[in-house]
Amino acid sequence: MPSVSLRLAVIGAGAAGLVAARELRREGHAPVVFERAAAVGGTWLYAPPAAPSDPLGASATHSSLYASLRTNLPRESMGFLDFPFVASEATGSADPRRFPGHEEVLRYLEAFACRFDLLRLVRFETEVLGVRREGRGRWAVTSRKVGDKGSGQEEVYDAVVVCNGHYTEPRIAVIPGVDAWPGKQMHSHNYRVPEPFLDQVVIVIGASASAFDISRDIASTAKEVHIADRSTPFHRCVKQPGYNNLWLHSMIDRAQEDGCVVFRDGSSIKADVIMHCTGYLYDFPFLGDDSTITVDDNRVDPLYKHVFPPEVAPQLSFIGLPWKVIPFPLFELQSKWVAKVLSGRIVLPSKEEMMEDVKAFYSKLEARGWPKRYTHNFSNCQFEYDDWLAAQCGYPTIEEWRKQMYFFNGYNKAARPESYRDKWDDDDLVEDANEDFKKYL
Ligand code: FAD
Repeated sequence: MPSVSLRLAVIGAGAAGLVAARELRREGHAPVVFERAAAVGGTWLYAPPAAPSDPLGASATHSSLYASLRTNLPRESMGFLDFPFVASEATGSADPRRFPGHEEVLRYLEAFACRFDLLRLVRFETEVLGVRREGRGRWAVTSRKVGDKGSGQEEVYDAVVVCNGHYTEPRIAVIPGVDAWPGKQMHSHNYRVPEPFLDQVVIVIGASASAFDISRDIASTAKEVHIADRSTPFHRCVKQPGYNNLWLHSMIDRAQEDGCVVFRDGSSIKADVIMHCTGYLYDFPFLGDDSTITVDDNRVDPLYKHVFPPEVAPQLSFIGLPWKVIPFPLFELQSKWVAKVLSGRIVLPSKEEMMEDVKAFYSKLEARGWPKRYTHNFSNCQFEYDDWLAAQCGYPTIEEWRKQMYFFNGYNKAARPESYRDKWDDDDLVEDANEDFKKYL
């Protein structure tokens, strides 16, 4: 089948944008990557502590990393499929731990960009302000140098691949009475270090990996830390093993003018800070109605296989929306698929068939009783999805060791929540991974 070479705009030079650029170029296209920051890495470009103008809002920084963050996936499983995230010179490694600090991931992404000569494709400090549909399915992209004034520059591209990440726009818990509550509220997006919480009483809302890590981090300096978790039964208030200042509660019922925060079990704490570790919202401020997608309760709708809006496919696509996944390999497979669809080597179903597929998927979610906001939560299906993408592209399925390692890490985390990053029982899988990596090293 003849292949078509297109001029493409990729928005973002995080892990998704980098691997998209590589796959698009491998397929013979000419991608231009727009990146607001001065460097590659996206989320992994740590922003040092600063007093945010709005501690509950997205603030000026993109990254949501805190200083002490170590990966929550073992490095062997985390890397791109053909560029292993091993502790070697090739990946610029300086932290050989199996669950390294965030700086190591940034070094890995920088090494990936250098190894595949991607930096020259990136327009740094250039923000995409608008993406507008033109005739013949093309898109006009308006971008502007960071710091410049004016309306920016418009260029026309054959297609746009959106890789702008989804861990920047905070999602906030609704707390009755909080407007009159005199304490300080903050979102984990703006959390960096525990020192500002010295001797304070802090309530952390959430049950995610970030809520777990941040509550422990803050407990190192705070007087008391109270975790409010909506999945904890109403009557529970449990001191956390190994800590004398950390408790797990049911969800917050209300906040009061006198500074008290009342939990659903009726108990109350006078608190200084409420830290919302309550996740993020998908946000595409540069897209208009002609993109044909809307975001409602964190469902990006409609998207065929979480990538293509049927009405404007394949000229608009999204890489990296699924969560509760191993992100980099999934981004890589989505990118291979998009690249081949754009070149015409893979043909998408008709618009109607894609819409039917989307509807059938929503019906399945409803039957399972999953809320809309879990549309892109892949906790039950990531490998099935990865393998479907791989089959589309004629690429091998995800390695068996990687699948097993993901599940083992989940069990280990549940069994050893405080120490899973330093103790594990799956060395045999590490050996399998290292054996497999030999073909790429
Ligand atoms: P991002 O990394 O967010 O990159 C998006 C890029 O787009 C950014 O560089 C941004 O500047 C740019 N951009 C956005 N809008 C525009 C615009 N309008 N114009 C120009 N540029 C724009 N993953 C793991 O694999 N392991 C982990 O242990 C892990 N831990 C995590 C911990 C935390 C606290 C968080 C928040 C995430 C974690 N992740 C982890 C997930 C992580 O987000 C993904 O690994 C991955 O980095 C996401 O890449 P991305 O390219 O989709 O988005």
